[in-house]
Amino acid sequence: MERLACVVTQPRSSPRAEVAMRIILIGPPGAGKGTQSQRLLRHLGVPHLSTGEMLREAVRGRTDEGKEAQKFMTQGALVPDPIILKLVERRLQDPDCLSGCLLDGFPRTLGQAQALDGFLQDHAIPLHGVIELRVDDGELMHRLISRRRQDDQPDIFRQRLNSYYQQTQPLLEYYNRRGLLETIDGIGATEEVFERVKKVLNSFSIRDQSSGGHQSAGAT
Ligand code: AMP
Repeated sequence: MERLACVVTQPRSSPRAEVAMRIILIGPPGAGKGTQSQRLLRHLGVPHLSTGEMLREAVRGRTDEGKEAQKFMTQGALVPDPIILKLVERRLQDPDCLSGCLLDGFPRTLGQAQALDGFLQDHAIPLHGVIELRVDDGELMHRLISRRRQDDQPDIFRQRLNSYYQQTQPLLEYYNRRGLLETIDGIGATEEVFERVKKVLNSFSIRDQSSGGHQSAGAT
């Protein structure tokens, strides 16, 4: 198991850490993670950790990681864990992220989830919950037709969907076993779906309060 090494640059007892939430958003490509993330960020007032965005920035910047990642991204495959963990490790060390954040598109593999757990446990940082945005394949394909992105070509999209089912879907059970998972129907108007998201956030925060704020990603 890979570990995310990190130097804590902010005291654990920061007042913000007691209110800010740390949430993971999981869903297949086209489920609306990006759209819901934008609303969630405004609602929660926490920083955004989107590995997709970080990778696209690395590709644009033509960094070594970006060049390597691009080979996988253009095929609709997941970028290998070591590259992802290196990027995420840097971002998680930023003081703003230590007191709460929205993890969008990360973790996407069991290895990434375990590395994240290691990081959270090492620094006694809680994970408040995991939201799955569920949308069936038929609807995803329908949405694909109206989107225009390079990685939305039908073949690449199908590959991305395969990667999701094979490598990311097992995480749902991983988090469900700990009572951290809530599944939301991702079909409907953006605001309608966001209302469902907000209900789930309330349940996370009630659970966190009743556990005295000690709900941890590593707790089994
Ligand atoms: P996204 O914008 O989150 O859909 O990500 C776009 C692409 O970046 C994905 O299809 C993957 O190739 C890659 N990617 C993003 N996040 C991850 C991750 N956590 N692990 C592996 N690959 C990722």
